[in-house]
Order: sequence, then structure tokens, then C-alpha cells
Amino acid sequence: MSSRARTSRAKVPSAVPAAVGGAGAPSDERSGTPTYGAAEASALAGVAASSSSASSVAIADFSTEASTEDASVASSERETTDASTTDASADASGAEAPMEIYKSFDDMGLPEQLLRGVYSSGFDRPSEIQTKAVVPIKKGRDALIQSQSGTGKTATFLTGGFCHVDPKRNEVQMVVISPTRELAEQTGNVAKTLGQFMGVRIHLATGGVSVDADLDKLGRGSPAVPHLLVVTPGRFYDLLKRNAVRPSTIKVLVMDEADQLLDAKFKEQILYIMSEPFIWPSTTQIVLVSATMIPAIAEVAKTLLVRDPFTILRDPDTVTLEGIRQFFIKVDHDDQKLDTLCDLSDVLTIQQAVIFANSRKSVEKLANDMIRRGFDVGFIHGEMDAKERKHRMGEFRTGKTRVLISTDLLARGIDVQQISLVINFELPVVNENYIHRIGRSGRYGRKGASINIVTPREERRQEEIETFYSKKVEELPMDLNIY
Ligand code: AMP
Repeated sequence: MSSRARTSRAKVPSAVPAAVGGAGAPSDERSGTPTYGAAEASALAGVAASSSSASSVAIADFSTEASTEDASVASSERETTDASTTDASADASGAEAPMEIYKSFDDMGLPEQLLRGVYSSGFDRPSEIQTKAVVPIKKGRDALIQSQSGTGKTATFLTGGFCHVDPKRNEVQMVVISPTRELAEQTGNVAKTLGQFMGVRIHLATGGVSVDADLDKLGRGSPAVPHLLVVTPGRFYDLLKRNAVRPSTIKVLVMDEADQLLDAKFKEQILYIMSEPFIWPSTTQIVLVSATMIPAIAEVAKTLLVRDPFTILRDPDTVTLEGIRQFFIKVDHDDQKLDTLCDLSDVLTIQQAVIFANSRKSVEKLANDMIRRGFDVGFIHGEMDAKERKHRMGEFRTGKTRVLISTDLLARGIDVQQISLVINFELPVVNENYIHRIGRSGRYGRKGASINIVTPREERRQEEIETFYSKKVEELPMDLNIY
């Protein structure tokens, strides 16, 4: 990839000051390649700040300008992929060339050891998002990918990204930023299986535990520096600041749950990571992935993507999860919610369930109330220490805990295939989190259901969610046959 690709931001979003794109992009004096500077970061911050949190949107007019080098690679690969077909509707931007569809992992031209990892993960055929996105990532294209929860996003960016990892090099070559430790751990586990035959070394660097172990692993004298680092934003920032990770060695940078990373809580940290004093070379490929994408975040995201970028965004009308039946139960007062929940005990114990509440306090109170009534439930929230969180997640993953009560900490990305029911004891404050929460059930096409327990006070909120997703939530039938 030539440095031209980094500078050629053919279409900078109109809300972004001109200095952010094109010739205005600041340059690393030593290499002559453009870098992300403070001006850019503040401009990006401005774009995000001026946003409203409207519904998801498909991006139009995204840059399609490829470097000559990339274009030739792309065309030669195209000629050799007989089994691939194209899908003109795959790219919601409507502005790009039709996407190629690879219906088999064998046709993707993956390194042999990686292909073995794919098959030994139990993946016989690529999921829809994998048919479209693995190969462009393998080709080194920056990406903005939105795909329904539970459709194989993690394996998409790991498989594509691992094509750029050379296990013989003793340096960090790929980084995945995750908003929570739980998601980071899950991603690390998927990566271990996928990368097992390649010999990819994987390290989790997350907050809440001492940074010393990370520094030992990453130190210059370390004989086994990890090739893939799965990190939470704060720890990544810390490691960059300490010079334990150098952007110059990173070939692929993935932001998982990108809309969360580029919104409120993490935005500043992420923009700082992408700005001076850290010098990101033009060769670092950036892949942004999420199940939900609000327009303003998509705009910010676009300014980060310059290497022949491609987007796969979902039509806002199709964002609700088709395989998950959505119900509500009306109660008159808050204090009837607990009884109602306990009445659901038969459904609760069918497989595994997550019950969401909005704060640490509500989670703990609900857990205590249920335990007092003899229910075997666990609970988790972000204010618990890292070890305890890990332990509780472990118990849930192995099925020892069947019902877990959580804040939005577990709303995103967490993949426990046996979860068949999500209960919203309190409706989420943020619209996007509704879809993330209910997406914990019905993983990879399985059946799932969600139940909102709503007081008259919350009916309005439920209507807002219904409008946001253009989806009617049904009243729970008496027979409780919800699947
Ligand atoms: P994710 O969307 O990354 O959370 O993945 C959801 C689930 O899909 C995980 O349990 C994966 O193991 C599973 N999965 C991902 N790709 C495939 C595939 N190609 N075939 C079967 N299962 C898959």
C-alpha cells in the first residue's frame, strides 16, 4: 500500500473541517507519511459532539479510490476465485462496486494453517458477513462493517486480519480494541482456536489487573512478544504511552463495537490513541466493526478509513433481529416486577437467560431479592473487580449459573450460545442497547426471545424503541410458548 492511499480521502464528510482530509493531513516528518494529528482528533471530536443519536443509517458516497498497487492485487485475485459470485446489494453505500461473495472458505485464498484453524473452529461454511468481508480485509482494505449480532463478526475480522500476521516476526502486528474485558476475553478465545496452527501468540491486556505482566510480555527483550493484542481502550492508551506497543509494527487495528468506542465514554481515549504523539503509519489497516451504527459515528469512522475503504452497513429497517421474538408484559407498579419475573421461572430455567437492569444498584437489589425467594441467579456489573467478573462470567459460560443479572456491561458482543431468553427488567436508556441486549439470545441463527417488563411509566419508552426499530413488540401470550 502506498502512502498515497492514506492521503487520498476523496470524500471527507461535509461536517469535517477540510484540514482533516486530503492535502491537509499532517505528515510524519521522518517517514513522509501522513499521521493522525491533534487537529484531526479535535475535528473528529467536533463531528461526534455535534451529532444527534438518530437511527442507524447507510453511508453513501464513500471513497472508492484504490491505489494502483491494490487495484492490481484485487483484479488478479478476482480472476482466480472461480467460486465467488458478486452481490450488488451487499454494500449499503450504493456507491461502490459490487462486492464479491465467497461461499466457501477454501476459495478465499487463506494461508493453509489459518484455513485449518477455521475448520477446527467448527466453521464449515462462511456466514453471510464472512462471505463478503473476509477477503477485502485480507486484501488490506480499511473497513466499516455492520452486521447483526451473533452472525460471526469476530471470526470475520480475525480471519481476515490473521492473513497479515507473520508469526515469525517477534512483534505485535494486530490489535483488537474491545470496550469490555469480557468481550476482550471472548475474542482472545476465538483467536486462539483460529490461530492455533499458525502459531499466533495472543495476549489480553485489559484494565483492572496490573500492567506489569503486559510490560513483561511486550518488552523489547521478550523472546515471545504477542502477535495479536486484544485490549481495552484505557490499557491500550497506557501501553502506547509507555512505548510498550509501537504503532509502526501494527498492520491491522480493529475496533470492535466501534460505535461504542467512538461514542461518549471512550471517544476521547480512542481519538487520543489515533492522534499525536502516537505516529500511525499509513500502512496500518483499520477495521471498524459493530452491530449498530449511528449516523454520526459512521461519519467519524469514515474519517479514519483511507486505505481503499469498503463499508457494509445494514439497512436501518432490517436491524432488528429476525430470529428473536420480542414480547412485553405490563405491570401496574415497579413493585410488581419481581413477582412477574418470578412467575416466569418455568421459562427462565429452560436454557440460560440474562436479565438486564440499568444500574449496579438495581442489579444487586434484584439479585438479592431473587436469591431470597430461592432462585439460583448470579449477577455481574462493571464496578466489580476484574477477578470476580471473570469468575462470574466463567460460571455463566459453563452453565453453572443459568440466570445472570447484568447491567449493560454484557449487552454487547457476549456470545453464550445457550442463552435463549433475555429479560429487560428495566428498559435500556440508549436505543442501540436494546438490540445489543436482545441479541445475546438467538446466537448464530438459533431461536431466542426477549421479554420487557413494563410499567405504565415505561410504556412510552417501549413505544420509542418500537418506533426506532420499526418493530412491534407483542404482548406475552398466556401459554408462555415463546420460542
Ligand atoms: P459473533 O458474531 O462473532 O459473536 O459470533 C457468533 C457465533 O457464531 C459464535 O458462537 C461463533 O462461534 C459462531 N460462528 C461464527 N462463524 C461461524 C461459521 N462460519 N459457522 C458456524 N458458526 C460460526
